[in-house]
Amino acid sequence: QVKEKGKGHYRFYRTEMNEAFPNYILMEAHLRKAIEKNEFIMHYQPQVNLLDGKIKSFEALIRWNNRKFGFVSPAQFIPLAEETGLIISIGEWVIHTVCEQLAIWRKKGFKDIRVAINISPKQLLDPNLPTIIKKALLFYQLPASSIEIEVTEGAMEDTRNALSMLQRLKEIGIVISVDDFGTGYSSLNYLKRFPIDIIKIDQSFVKEIQVNEKDAAITKTIINLAHNLGMEVIAEGVEESDQVQFLISAQCLKAQGFYFSRPVSADEIEKNVLCI
Ligand code: C2E
Ligand code: MG
Ligand code: MG
Ligand code: MG
Repeated sequence: QVKEKGKGHYRFYRTEMNEAFPNYILMEAHLRKAIEKNEFIMHYQPQVNLLDGKIKSFEALIRWNNRKFGFVSPAQFIPLAEETGLIISIGEWVIHTVCEQLAIWRKKGFKDIRVAINISPKQLLDPNLPTIIKKALLFYQLPASSIEIEVTEGAMEDTRNALSMLQRLKEIGIVISVDDFGTGYSSLNYLKRFPIDIIKIDQSFVKEIQVNEKDAAITKTIINLAHNLGMEVIAEGVEESDQVQFLISAQCLKAQGFYFSRPVSADEIEKNVLCI
């Protein structure tokens, strides 16, 4: 690990990050300006009901196109945004952009759509988060039920703060899902205590569902766990029809993945998904 001492403060840069990004510090400078330079756009990935094929919800995924770095994956810049605190303003931009899009779709007649927004751990612990979301809902005249937030298990390790935050968001009427379930600090205790509506099965389990017996067993167990707790369940990273068949036979009724659609622009969602 490399430690950077600055004026009275220091930060940790993880070694892998330095290896992956020799221009890590330069990238931070560009990330800092990305909102004002209009370099972000949101893409949306359909979530498909496996029984009737209907699509009523989407996951919003941020995209960054920078002049120097080109397209940068969120898997790369979101951790950087977390470490630098930029995630708070980027997260607020995401919330506003998604709400604006929902308002546009509602005006065009697509009313019962829900969009899931990824919320990173630092954002979840930001005491202003409920106000930011409430203001956006009010400004764009949206029902709270049109917004879902996805939180990872890592965000829930700070149990007390995460619990009170999720309760506040739940009171507003927002749908709450656990993202990448099973890959982090999986505690059945938080499934019991937290107001969780949906469990998202991580794509690492779905990937080899047909060939790996353990992945198959874990996936089935997560599906049953969700249902026994009265929660919904959705499988991520579905790329093949065999996976769809497996999921249907295991009673998982919702999925998202390249098999159905990659994350695409709002325009493409309108042209290819909402019109049908
Ligand atoms: P995630 O929330 O678990 O999102 C799922 C990731 O899997 C997305 O990658 C998506 O493009 C990808 N994916 C979807 N279907 C398939 C498939 O069938 N096969 C494969 N191999 N991949 C699939 P993406 O867009 O690169 O995002 C990576 C991560 O970055 C997200 O993981 C999420 O943790 C984070 N992220 C993305 N957008 C946002 C955002 O607006 N805010 C925050 N805080 N985090 C975000
Ligand atoms: Mg997600
Ligand atoms: Mg995920
Ligand atoms: Mg993920």
